[in-house]
Amino acid sequence: MQSVFQQHPEVAERFPDLHPPLTAQSAVIEANRCLYCFDAPCTGACPTHIDVPRFIKKIANENLRGSALTILDANILGASCSHVCPVQVLCEGACVMHHHHEPPIKIALLQRHAMDAFYASGAVLPKTSAERRNGKIACIGAGPASLACAAELRQRGYDVTVFDRHRLPGGLNTYGVAEYKLPTADSLREIELVGSLGVDFQFGTEIAGEAAFANLEKEYDAIFLGVGLGAMHRLRIPGEDHPAVIDALAFIAGYKTAGRLAVGRRVVVVGAGNTAIDAANAAKRLGAEEVQILYRRVETHMPAFGFEYEHAKQEGVRFLWQTQPIAIHADTDGELRSIECLRVELAQDGTPRSIAGSNFHIECDMVVPAIGQSPLFDLLTECYGVRVEHGRVVVDRVTGQTSNPKYFAGGDCVNGGREVVDAVADGKRAAVGIAKVLESAHA
Ligand SMILES: Cc1cc2nc3c(=O)[nH]c(=O)nc-3n(C[C@H](O)[C@H](O)[C@H](O)COP(=O)(O)OP(=O)(O)OC[C@H]3O[C@@H](n4cnc5c(N)ncnc54)[C@H](O)[C@@H]3O)c2cc1C
Repeated sequence: MQSVFQQHPEVAERFPDLHPPLTAQSAVIEANRCLYCFDAPCTGACPTHIDVPRFIKKIANENLRGSALTILDANILGASCSHVCPVQVLCEGACVMHHHHEPPIKIALLQRHAMDAFYASGAVLPKTSAERRNGKIACIGAGPASLACAAELRQRGYDVTVFDRHRLPGGLNTYGVAEYKLPTADSLREIELVGSLGVDFQFGTEIAGEAAFANLEKEYDAIFLGVGLGAMHRLRIPGEDHPAVIDALAFIAGYKTAGRLAVGRRVVVVGAGNTAIDAANAAKRLGAEEVQILYRRVETHMPAFGFEYEHAKQEGVRFLWQTQPIAIHADTDGELRSIECLRVELAQDGTPRSIAGSNFHIECDMVVPAIGQSPLFDLLTECYGVRVEHGRVVVDRVTGQTSNPKYFAGGDCVNGGREVVDAVADGKRAAVGIAKVLESAHA
């Protein structure tokens, strides 16, 4: 897969690693700071429940392969999670060192240290001892949820085929996550690992239409929906069809995977979630002189993590609060000229209300909407009998099974859009659920 992917040479230059790796020596020193808590809160805080003290102990003993296998046992995407997880609010946020007023153990960097060593030494997983089982499973989507589901099922001896409409697998790990956190090549490398288990991949294959689902239902014993979310919400304001209005997902995927590095001089990003921050930082790194994030509420309401907000400020991104865009204007030559906005006041209950007559213009030559992704309604209604509520597939939280017993689901299409590690946890949980159903069917 990596061989079919050619990164634009400037991308690595402009998006260097945000957190450079530990050296061998510093990894051992850091590992020896760990208290190896018996009831490790870090493990409890990880949605995939990686045995953190165990893998860190192995690093302290310089058993890096053992450490990596401990991580992979819980989380097949242990490498990408070590790059992308918001550890401040997960494992590292739960570290007992906080109670001692000490910095938390650098769990993510240690995890990455073990995973880097694993990949550097050829990324060979132990041969699975599972006997071959009767049962074929189709996973729709090759994002983190499906990859985790497929890996777990293969390791249990089932035949698995993963379909993805994109040319490259990995879902948002490949197309969405900021390059300075996870380079596309590293995401693809991880999918090769899943492939090495014997998972069959069919890329560039969109599953769409009732007939396609009916065929899958005939051919496979179970179907896992790991389809993520759909396109970004539109701003629904005049002028947004201008070619210099590029939604955050298209903009990020463009620089990461399609060599589209062009950016405006003055960029306005609309929305203040993590995706907006990633897009704004990318615009800065690609050479925009001025990047502003507009948000209709106040700083304390922004959905982005606090550490992402701080990072964006360091990158030079400016924030404009209580601002509601109402139109995008081009000049007589057709060039994008400005975004027109209204000021916003917050009612006592926090509801934003735009102030009539408060119009003002922000000069810009590129607008990036980043106000969330919509659910894949059309696709989900094609899966006969699968209940969808508020745009989310409804599943049994223990097994991942939907209201149609043949379908299981996990990841963003179930949780509405969270983190990679949540998708991995869901995918693995569903795999266990699928295996149970198939075992009892063939008993
Ligand atoms: C810009 C951005 C940055 C992010 N950064 C982070 C981060 O730093 N850290 C973090 O933990 N999380 C991050 N996330 C969230 C994280 O990427 C997602 O939670 C995670 O990727 C969800 O995994 P998934 O498998 O459910 O869906 P996805 O990753 O979206 O994968 C779904 C896959 O299904 C495929 N698909 C959909 N429909 C079909 C069909 N009909 N037929 C075939 N294939 C189909 C799609 O092509 C896609 O490859 C970010 C999200 C975004 C948008």
